Amino acid sequence: MLEALKEEVCAQNHELPNNGLVVGSGGNVSGRDPETGLVVIKPSGVKFAKLTPETMVVVDPDGAVIEGEMRPSVDTGIHLYIYKQRADVFGITHTHSPYASSFAARGERIPAVLTPITHMLGRDIPCSRYATPGEVDTGQAIIDAADGGWAVLVKAHGVFTMGASASEATSFAMYLEEAAMTTHLAMTRGPVEELSDQEIDRCYNWFRKNYGQAGEKKVNS
Ligand SMILES: [Zn+2]
Repeated sequence: MLEALKEEVCAQNHELPNNGLVVGSGGNVSGRDPETGLVVIKPSGVKFAKLTPETMVVVDPDGAVIEGEMRPSVDTGIHLYIYKQRADVFGITHTHSPYASSFAARGERIPAVLTPITHMLGRDIPCSRYATPGEVDTGQAIIDAADGGWAVLVKAHGVFTMGASASEATSFAMYLEEAAMTTHLAMTRGPVEELSDQEIDRCYNWFRKNYGQAGEKKVNS
């Protein structure tokens, strides 16, 4: 079941180590099927190199395993909480990517100082309150901090991005790490100037309208 979604979610999980966003088996990507509401997610504790579409786990919105030989990611409860709260989210990506997580370690947001990431996310990247690593508490902290947006740092933990698909959420995670690195480097040389709210809105609206090919999903280049 959900073969195309399993292939997409598997391929997006492979993007995490391929782009230096994770080490070992940390981090995960999931996708939600719009028709059934079922969620496809990475199995728990399996090295990325070993992931195939067949190893992906299918769970229902309450976390019951519908298909799959292995246990789902330990972060499944967080993903399911976000999906329940956000009808517009169909993909979630979680990483501990180092530059973005260095902001999370300090409980700091990443300011909106670069247009490429602002085009995609339309705001700064907020940092949530500290949340107990586990299920609902972290999910609640993400929903609160996101305030309808697509990316959050969880204080003392790492990055959660959301998108209209698993591919979009993973693209956001990649570009967010690049932006975090560049912003960090800039901040070591002095204060940085944040884009105005007006320019942030203009960037976001322009990008949503113009990026990519007609009829193609945005961002998933
Ligand atoms: Zn984590």
